[in-house]
Order: sequence, then structure tokens, then C-alpha cells
Amino acid sequence: SVPLSFFGGIGGASRDGILVKGGNYLEVLARAEIVVFDKTGTLTKGVFNVTAIHPDDIPEARLLELAALAECYSDHPISRSLKEAYGKDIDASRVSGVEELSGRGVKAVVDGRPVCAGNDKLMEELGVKWHPCHRVGTTVHVAVDGIYAGHIVISDEVKEDAKAAVAALKALGVRKTVMLTGDAKAVGEAVAADLGLDEVHTQLLPADKVDRVESLLKQVSSKGALAFVGDGINDAPVLSRADIGIAMGGLGSDAAIEAADVVLMDDKPSKLSDAISIARRTLSIVR
Ligand code: ADP
Ligand code: MG
Repeated sequence: SVPLSFFGGIGGASRDGILVKGGNYLEVLARAEIVVFDKTGTLTKGVFNVTAIHPDDIPEARLLELAALAECYSDHPISRSLKEAYGKDIDASRVSGVEELSGRGVKAVVDGRPVCAGNDKLMEELGVKWHPCHRVGTTVHVAVDGIYAGHIVISDEVKEDAKAAVAALKALGVRKTVMLTGDAKAVGEAVAADLGLDEVHTQLLPADKVDRVESLLKQVSSKGALAFVGDGINDAPVLSRADIGIAMGGLGSDAAIEAADVVLMDDKPSKLSDAISIARRTLSIVR
């Protein structure tokens, strides 16, 4: 049976907006040795602003419109920002055949023409030659009829408490902090350096994130544990693969909240170190 103090620990945590799905997870949290974060929506706000539009042969407004329409059914933070920058109501009857390609972008038929919007990887897959982007930010390339139409640059901001969150984990003795992202190398490395993370891996597809977590799991000592923290967009498989999966409750998808062992209700990464402290305190009472 589960000792009563576990419920005390879980109750205390829930008052802090930390939902722990069972007493055994407190025990795993207390041993966290490697903490792996997803970037978008976890360490960054996941709220992108369009900072530049570089059309090739079409008007700027048309490029943005094609991207926003192609993205109209997606809940990805990038899609939300493109729709917001577009600003108009979207007539969904103009859009059909939508395919969401996780970690890459979307394909759709817009106004009767095939449109693809996404990153370098997507363009590579489609055999579309893209122009390099000279701005720092996440690039959304757009191809129409299989021909390059230009790109839109968007940028995200790190969460206010992200740097403190990483420092607090170090202070608790967490040996290694890692960030995984599907975003470009320059973007991922800039964020990781800014936050003081030990390691960063960029340009990962969701399946690559699972592979990375598997190899990091091999680096965990026999007494330690690996925690993965994500917003749950595309990362439910990683959440369940980690020794303990932690999801952002506000931004996170239902699938992520379902797959997670711990949910941070207010989306603050700094709550992770609070959760570890609560877990250690609770266990010291139980023992
Ligand atoms: P992260 O790993 O940072 O959480 P994702 O795995 O969700 O990010 O996405 C990785 C990358 O794939 C994004 O940086 C973007 O380049 C591209 N991408 C994913 N979804 C979309 C989309 N709906 N539209 C455009 N690009 C996308
Ligand atoms: Mg993500």
C-alpha cells in the first residue's frame, strides 16, 4: 500500500499547480539525474511573431495567405502564429487534402493548387530548391505547385523563468540538462546557449527524439532517472519513453496530458525543480 505521506506530498504539489499521477512518480522525480526538455512551448513560449516575409514571385500578402490557409487545421504554435499574422477569417472551403507532417510542416490544396509549408527538411523531401534565410528565426518555406514561392520568418521567445529553471536543476544536483528540437541548428543552439543547457540536438523528427532519449537513458546511473519535459505537441511517444514524462498542462495536448506522469498546470518549466524538491522532502518523511 502507498504510505499516507505520499498523498500529503501529492496534495502539496497540486496546490502548486503540479499534478503527480501517483506516489511512485514522486520516487522517480526525486532521483532525476538527466533532464531533457523539448524546445517549442516548453522552454519557449510557443507564441511566434512573424518578423519577415520574403516572397519570390508573388505578393507578400499572398505568400502569407497561402501559408495561413494551408495551416488552417493545425494546432501547432507555428500555424497559430501564421493564422494570427494573416488576421482574416479563413474560408475552409478553399482548403482540402490537408496532411500534417510532424516535425516538418503541412501539405494542402489551397484554391485548387498544391501548397506546402514547412522547414528545410520538408523542402528537401519534396525536391524543392529553397533560398537560404539570413535572419535568425524559424523559417517557414512555402512551395506552390512544387515551385518555391518564398519564406516567412517567425520568432519565438524563451519563457521568463526558463533560465532560472535550468539553474535550479543544477543547484539540485541534476547532472545533465538537454534540449531536443525539430527547429534549425542556429535557432536551437542560440536558445541552448542563452539558457545554459549542457547539450542540444536540433533538426530532429519526433522519431529522432525517441532515439535521442533512448541513448540518453543509457547514460543514467543505476540510482538515477531520466525526466522528459514537453508541451506534448508531437512528443507523446517521448513522454512515455522517459523514466518520468512531464507535460505542460496549459499548452499541452490532451494526448500529452494523458501520456504524462506529471503535469505542470501553469506551463512554467521552473515548476520542475519545485516538483523534485517536494518529491525529495516527501520521501525523506516516508523513510
Ligand atoms: P520542437 O521540436 O521545437 O518542439 P516541432 O517538432 O513541433 O518543434 O517542429 C519542428 C520543426 O518542424 C519546426 O521548427 C518547424 O520548422 C517545422 N514544423 C512543424 N510543424 C510545422 C507547421 N505546422 N508548419 C510549419 N513548420 C512546421
Ligand atoms: Mg514540440
